[in-house]
Amino acid sequence: MENQIKQPLENRKVAFLTLGCKVNSYETEAMEQLFQQASYTIVDFAEQADIYVVNTCTVTNIADRKSRQMLHKAKKLNPDAVVVAVGCYVQAAKDALEADEAIDLVVGNNQKKQIVQLLENYLSDHEENEAVIDIAQDSEYEELAIGSLAEKTRAYMKIQDGCNQFCSYCIIPYTRGRIRSRKKEDILAEVHRLVNKGYKEIVLTGIHLSSYGLDSASVEEYDQAIDQAQHTPLLQIITEISEVDGVERIRLGSLEPRIITDEFVKTLSKNSKFCPHFHLSLQSGCDATLKRMNRKYDTKLFMEKCEQLREHFDRPALTTDVIVGFPGETEEEFGETIQFLKKITFMKTHVFKYSKRQGTRAAAMENQIAESIKHERSETLIELDKKNNHMYLESFIGENEKVLFEERVTIDGKEYMVGHTQRYVKVAVEGEESLVNQIVPVVIDGFASEEVLHAFMNYSK
Ligand code: SF4
Repeated sequence: MENQIKQPLENRKVAFLTLGCKVNSYETEAMEQLFQQASYTIVDFAEQADIYVVNTCTVTNIADRKSRQMLHKAKKLNPDAVVVAVGCYVQAAKDALEADEAIDLVVGNNQKKQIVQLLENYLSDHEENEAVIDIAQDSEYEELAIGSLAEKTRAYMKIQDGCNQFCSYCIIPYTRGRIRSRKKEDILAEVHRLVNKGYKEIVLTGIHLSSYGLDSASVEEYDQAIDQAQHTPLLQIITEISEVDGVERIRLGSLEPRIITDEFVKTLSKNSKFCPHFHLSLQSGCDATLKRMNRKYDTKLFMEKCEQLREHFDRPALTTDVIVGFPGETEEEFGETIQFLKKITFMKTHVFKYSKRQGTRAAAMENQIAESIKHERSETLIELDKKNNHMYLESFIGENEKVLFEERVTIDGKEYMVGHTQRYVKVAVEGEESLVNQIVPVVIDGFASEEVLHAFMNYSK
């Protein structure tokens, strides 16, 4: 398809759309900055642009469909525009995307840093319309840096890519490749840049964050390192980041339970900047299901790790993901998950219905579960989560907390300033816009809504 972009660079408009996870959001922001540095103007995706970049996701079949829909939507918005498909779905479905008339350029993972150059090459010769490498063979971390973020108070920072775990339902190891870690100097340089821009909270993210710094480890070495997580590179980088002046909070993305050891927890519990918020993906509370999922822990180990966290931190925020309707999940197995969730009482459980992902082992498993059963099971867990969440939030009523304020929102027709505590509890106060990006002591006195606590400012602190 012939595209006719004749404007000089500074008049060229580029629009982005991101699907999927926080890592994708981070990478989109980094690509936006590359385009800005090259004198392009960033516009909203709904506007007429000269170039549309869709950062795709392939975590489920629904994500695939959405990725295709958005790429086609871009072409409809401006049939003369160059439509660029980037990211994980590209990695999984390169040939189909190249054959698709609506898509002009496909850019795989670990090629995003070259996106401006790839686009300009394409515009000049219309020949080379793909840059997708065999991600399984690539061992380099692609350094994509950001200077600022759309979110004004909390900076999500990607420090790791890829995954070696091969959970049986997950396509990510095939689309993101093997574990690769960002260099310490690059991480610290970005932390300094973000702090200079005024960010107070850094959230470390990755595809499999617990693997940070273990790139060259063999499977055995990896297991050993993660089982004795005293000196893991992750623990070291958390400590170094929290020593940077201006960083007031440091939070972690999803962790694997095995990384929680006495040493890990003790070190972190002494770090006042560290937010006691642990996202440990459980996926199932039944050992037989966990085995079929190829998860590397059982419920006993998971429970021990949660207890360890609760010993060293006061009411740590334990959050998790659970998949319902995994192939072969019987009523009894699902019952075990319910019992386990009741025992642990997470602060928040994100419930996902199993979705078949072509190319994974689980897709070929027998006894796939009917959608109606998945729906029922999901509703049951969502109800349970509401109760657990309420119980957790209620335990803070009457307490002093510190809130990092983010934005003004309307709850039940009333305006509030809202932010989060270290434990990621959302709190609303009647206050001024000037609270944004301030950490302020408050006293919690009730609920502003089902999931948000109400507080007043504690001027005595
Ligand atoms: S740990 Fe499992 S679910 Fe997470 S990215 Fe790796 S393979 Fe996928």
